[in-house]
Amino acid sequence: MPHDLPKAYDPTAIEDHWAGYWVRENLFVQPTPDPADKAAAADNANVHLDGQSQSGEPFTILLPPPNVTGRLHMGHMLNQTEMDILTRWRRMSGRRALWLPGTDHAGIATQMMVERQLTAEGSSRQHLGREAFVARVWEWKRHYGGAILEQMKRLGVSVDWSREYFTMDERLSIAVREAFVRLHEQGLIYRGAYIVNWCPRCQTAISDLEVVHSEQKGHLWEIRYPVLGSDGPEGKPKKDSGEFITVATTRPETMLGDTAVAIHSEDERYLHLHGKKLRLPLMNREIPIVLDEWVSQDFGTGAVKVTPAHDPNDFALGERHHLPSINVMDDRAHINENGGPYEGLDRYVARKKIVADLEAQGLLAAVKDYTNNVGHCDRCKTVVEPRLSTQWFLKIQPLAEKAIAAVKPDADGNKAIRFTPEMYEKIYLEWMNNIHDWCISRQLWWGHRIPAWHCAACHKITVARTDPTACAHCGSKEITQETDVLDTWFSSGLLPVSVFGWPNLTDKTRADFDAFYPTSLLVTGFDILFFWVARMIMLGCWFAGDVPMPDGSARKLEDSVPFKEVYIHALVRDANREKMSKTKGNVIDPIEIVKQFGTDAVRFTLASMASPGTDIAFNVARTEGYRAFANKIWNAARFIFMNVDRAAEVGLSSPMKTIRRPNSPDEISRISSSLREVPEETAERIKFILNRPPDSKGLFNLPFVQDIAPLEGRWITALLYRTAGEVNVALKNYRFDEAANTVYQFFWGSFCDWYLEIVKLRLDFGPFLNMQELAKRELTEEEDKILERRVFAQQSLGTLVFIFETSLRMLSPFMPFISEELWHAVWDGNPPTKSIALAIFPNPRATSDEKPAVITEMELLQSLITEVRALRKEIGVEEKAVVPIEIRSDTAFRKIAEENSDIIERLAHVSEVRFVDQIAADLSKHSTPTFDVAVIYERTIDIAAERERLTKDIAKYEKGLAAAERQLGNDSFLRKAPAHVVEGLKKQESETRLLLEKAQAALAVLPKE
Ligand SMILES: [Zn+2]
Ligand SMILES: [Zn+2]
Repeated sequence: MPHDLPKAYDPTAIEDHWAGYWVRENLFVQPTPDPADKAAAADNANVHLDGQSQSGEPFTILLPPPNVTGRLHMGHMLNQTEMDILTRWRRMSGRRALWLPGTDHAGIATQMMVERQLTAEGSSRQHLGREAFVARVWEWKRHYGGAILEQMKRLGVSVDWSREYFTMDERLSIAVREAFVRLHEQGLIYRGAYIVNWCPRCQTAISDLEVVHSEQKGHLWEIRYPVLGSDGPEGKPKKDSGEFITVATTRPETMLGDTAVAIHSEDERYLHLHGKKLRLPLMNREIPIVLDEWVSQDFGTGAVKVTPAHDPNDFALGERHHLPSINVMDDRAHINENGGPYEGLDRYVARKKIVADLEAQGLLAAVKDYTNNVGHCDRCKTVVEPRLSTQWFLKIQPLAEKAIAAVKPDADGNKAIRFTPEMYEKIYLEWMNNIHDWCISRQLWWGHRIPAWHCAACHKITVARTDPTACAHCGSKEITQETDVLDTWFSSGLLPVSVFGWPNLTDKTRADFDAFYPTSLLVTGFDILFFWVARMIMLGCWFAGDVPMPDGSARKLEDSVPFKEVYIHALVRDANREKMSKTKGNVIDPIEIVKQFGTDAVRFTLASMASPGTDIAFNVARTEGYRAFANKIWNAARFIFMNVDRAAEVGLSSPMKTIRRPNSPDEISRISSSLREVPEETAERIKFILNRPPDSKGLFNLPFVQDIAPLEGRWITALLYRTAGEVNVALKNYRFDEAANTVYQFFWGSFCDWYLEIVKLRLDFGPFLNMQELAKRELTEEEDKILERRVFAQQSLGTLVFIFETSLRMLSPFMPFISEELWHAVWDGNPPTKSIALAIFPNPRATSDEKPAVITEMELLQSLITEVRALRKEIGVEEKAVVPIEIRSDTAFRKIAEENSDIIERLAHVSEVRFVDQIAADLSKHSTPTFDVAVIYERTIDIAAERERLTKDIAKYEKGLAAAERQLGNDSFLRKAPAHVVEGLKKQESETRLLLEKAQAALAVLPKE
């Protein structure tokens, strides 16, 4: 029987069950819409039922694809919790929700992973060869690639698994190829020599974004470059003039590739050297002195060595002065054949030798300690080497222009893409306004290989949509494909268009694109704002802009953007607000925490702290608290089901059954007639439990309560409306924290702590009565009373169950598992939809539904009860004692208190409520603006026992006091004891003295026997 909930809440069992159920039942699958159904769907916009309806505005959201090598970390957990809350909320609010999952092939990371495996096996990718290596990576992906998605399944995220993609899928690879070819045709892709960040370990160029800088202690070497005399003999090398120019460098090995020294034209120290040449030490190469305004006169010696092949600034300078670029390192950062005697040496070995050689030749002017910012490969932490190489570039300006327009407000202040928090808009625009061409090639084997072929005959390049067999320029068959692959972000940047079928958009295949593009929202971290968000905007606007609208008209920018909203979430830090890092050892594994407390509690922890722009200090104690919250809800359910079962035992049907038979006048008349002679008011109340407006499948938004229902029923209903309204507003504004805390306050603070306590008063179902038999004869007075109480009980049980059912729906986006479990139980295992996730999210249509008056009334009553409880504590009333109270108040409050005296009596353990004009002077009272209240209590005590207790206490205090005084009077103790010990003893002495005085006073007033 579903009502037989286990006594203890055990998240693991529940969560495993429902996580499997959601996937198995394809609950979150959003099918490709059938265009023919569009008209029908529009007519039926509010229908919201099992399986997803085709109606409602789509709510589309893309999962930032985790790396296929990834494991779920706290950042994912936050990101996915936020997305899941929003998607579940939108889905339950009638939107056609589609959350699309997938993984990224993560070029560098995955290749590294497999290379490590090969190294362990004593092999290497070079040994395997490209084809076998790529096959090996695919094999790795088949075995291990889905791990993070399995973790997501267990966490119950409401994604459409039927649409899962992998960025190397054929379908998505076609989009990548089309994008490259089209951009090439548009003249936006070019090859060029450029200084790139080269990772000698990964042996590939990496983007600026993939370089992490950190301060490192190193040296600044000052080197003397001899100035050559101008009068060397014809054909013979010029002689050193005896003068030097001193340059400084942090990377002395790069001097092997120097092709000039630059000075500022106005630098007075060097005016006499204009036009002279220098001898490059060690290489003995003649290099010019060039004049360049970029050189700062104030920095160092004012002379700069120029290595165009190994420094981006020098490269630019070299271009200005037409200097040759000499690359002196190979792919592994060993000195190459251009490095003369140092050829073959690792860069750091070469550095040592070069410094030693310079010193030996007297050309090392100085070595200074120097801290500089060194770039490391984000993946493998190797120091990157700026290095000249030939790469593929995307001319970014035309794409950036659209991407800027998409975010900047137009003349009317509208934005096609809105950022939350708004400050990211500025950061984005600043980056976009200063953007450089994008180096899209990587020297990897795992990834989308660039569709370009080099011709051995004419040396031209053929770029093609299908693999060519001959050069497009000269027809030669001697063509070979480019070995570079594309930057991983090139393919993930295309996802918003490619997952919906671009570029293959025929009339038949574009239903997805028409329905779901642009997506509604992107939720992501700041760390990939430029990597990914910016590139999706550029590529999305560029390519979607060419796709006509469903009616054939041209697509405007606002319909070309990949998403309409971007929500940038904060970081999850540890409890001390420290960034989590492996080195610090403070990384929290979400899966471990989930095992300990359940997914619901972890989700709730994150949600309760998530608000725009605020980092989250993750504290396990808090998660423990939310597990207790789940437990509280569980126990509330058990209490409710116990009462539903008790009602059934005396012949009353479950409230959820009455709701499944809606709009039945027969029902009302049948029950009414079976209760002959019930007062008219009571008959009205029977209607109140039956008269609710569910839709044809028994779904309803919010419960309905009539004005004649008891205060607590009207109050909790009004409060539920208000709470639901606030939660909807908070979620709309990405205030996850406000939404979660509002739900928490309602459920625990109002529903459990107050409403459940009050409603216990009403749930008196009496004994079993045979209604058919009763209908045949006159009722006894007692039977009449029982029947009337039962009607009240049934009403209240109805309100209780409906409020609980609605609260579960409100809780569901935050705690999907426990709400699903209990919701099925509320419906006795026969719910109107397959899942609570497909039911309706409570949302009052109008604020007038909130009925603030009843909330205020109840708040006054609550404050009275709270004051009485406090007073009882103060004057030492025993917990179970039932005592009278006196209230002084105006007539309005007196009316509330009188009408609800049963509530006051029950919740404050009061025997009688007396209303007075003035509280007796000898009573201690509590006052509020509305009322004064006092508790009347005379303690009956066993005088003899009390005397004995006090006497014993006094003896104990006296003894303690004497001991303390003795020690404090001991000079040698005072000299030796640490200050804090003496302080503690003094404190103890004065406290004991106070207790002693109190006990003596109490004994003095004790009546004589
Ligand atoms: Zn690397
Ligand atoms: Zn050719």
